[in-house]
Amino acid sequence: MTAFRIPLSDVTLGEEEALAVAQVVRSGWLTLGPEVRAFEEEFAEFVGVEGAVAVSNGTAALHLALHALGVQAGAEVIVPSLSFVATANSVVLAGGTPIFADVLSSTELTLDPGHVRSLITPRTVGVTAMHYGGRPARMAELQEICRAHNLFLLEDAAHGVGGYLGDEALGTVGDAGCFSFFGNKNMTTGEGGMVVAKDPGVLEGVRLARSHGMTAASWDRFAGHAWEYDVIAPGYNYRPTEITGAMGRIQLGRLPGNVARRRELLDVYARELGCDHRGVGEGLVLHPWGERGAAHLCVILLTDPGARDPLRTALADAGIQTSIHYPPSHLFRHYRESQGTGPGDLPVTEDVARRMVTLPLYPRLSDEQVGGIASEIRSFLGPS
Ligand SMILES: *Cc1c(COP(=O)(O)O)cnc(C)c1O
Repeated sequence: MTAFRIPLSDVTLGEEEALAVAQVVRSGWLTLGPEVRAFEEEFAEFVGVEGAVAVSNGTAALHLALHALGVQAGAEVIVPSLSFVATANSVVLAGGTPIFADVLSSTELTLDPGHVRSLITPRTVGVTAMHYGGRPARMAELQEICRAHNLFLLEDAAHGVGGYLGDEALGTVGDAGCFSFFGNKNMTTGEGGMVVAKDPGVLEGVRLARSHGMTAASWDRFAGHAWEYDVIAPGYNYRPTEITGAMGRIQLGRLPGNVARRRELLDVYARELGCDHRGVGEGLVLHPWGERGAAHLCVILLTDPGARDPLRTALADAGIQTSIHYPPSHLFRHYRESQGTGPGDLPVTEDVARRMVTLPLYPRLSDEQVGGIASEIRSFLGPS
């Protein structure tokens, strides 16, 4: 285990999850079955859509969504480089090529619609937007561009669960949305993911490809709902387990309260770091998280890139874990070698990536702990 007194993130789990998992174990049915079905229905209702398909993780969700949206060899999908690398990798898994776009600015770390527009070619089939830190991407502008060029708009809503853009849940604004329930996300099942889509045909494509392209699942045959199955197209095994389903149902119940607490903690950070309403403070900017965003990450951007690593060391010495979200994907060796991307391609992304630090944020963090972290940072940056 880690020596950090205050970790970067932590789970909020209780007896309810333990009991729900124990019930699955006692039931003897461990994979895709009634718990997963119930989780899908409850999740769909929570985000306000007709249906949702649960899968084994967020990367599988992205892969299946891109597959069902029709990405094939030769297709280009525009993605932010400033994201977890799964946003780009999933395009490659689906047979396409990720084209890396820049983000707007250090106070808005989501896709720059103007840059997205400039990257469109005859091979472009879609755009994946990512709600960085739970802050909504500029969906209206991206939607307009996608409509005008007949492209799909996919949401990587791994940071977005529990957040809204106006009255719409993040992940339900574009043509399809993908969620992750990894251990550090706003809700977790250990590993898990979910796909929602506007077009029922796309959702059905996800459902089929999740389990080998088979028209009936084992559970349906076990339960006597189906005798036979056909295979419509070769698929994958991206099925979730019943443990995922059972935990997900409990975690979904905790989500609104947990997101509200995350927002509160970000307010405490802003106050304790001395930031104004735009997040601007002495020597740093606290990335704004959006009024109804999902408050997934607490990210500061230092004015001086040279202060970043020493600050991280000072915080680590004080027992406080930090991270960087993210090393830009277009600078990873695979993409440099396979696509010829490199330094200089995305000025804003490369600049912010040198200046950013992610601070601890999880519902059980106390206001006092945030005060302590903020005072370490203020004393490191020196008197103002
Ligand atoms: C976590 C994450 C993913 C991948 O989800 P997994 O469940 O870990 O596969 C994809 N995109 C972003 C932005 C993420 O944060």
